[in-house]
Amino acid sequence: MSNGAPGWCPECGTRYEAGTVACPRCRALLVPDPPARGGAPVVVHKVPDAAAGALLAGLLEHHGLRVHLRSATLPGYGDVRRDWGTSAWGELLVRPEDADEAREVIADYLAALERGGQVRDEDVEGEGGG
Ligand SMILES: [Zn+2]
Repeated sequence: MSNGAPGWCPECGTRYEAGTVACPRCRALLVPDPPARGGAPVVVHKVPDAAAGALLAGLLEHHGLRVHLRSATLPGYGDVRRDWGTSAWGELLVRPEDADEAREVIADYLAALERGGQVRDEDVEGEGGG
């Protein structure tokens, strides 16, 4: 293994200069390429309107996930759609490493909606309180 190139810690994503072979914090061997963390956000759910988008975005933030609500409507252009092929108003994006959890949170929420027709805080938060 050459020491002539910089490396990245696969655990925490820190970049180290040439000569370092392992991350002192994580005790992980460095890899030659930056880890996927911080990569392009992924769409976890499409929302029919602004209200649903804000509601689900708030739900994910409540679970500690950083979420981005992207509207299919171009800002400043009224009702002009950026993507004519979709009937959704917009979509929720999260970091790739958060995608699984975000989908789970949304699935739980939608399941609770179908069960009771109305979602209470207990359903959303999962545990605690009661
Ligand atoms: Zn590290």
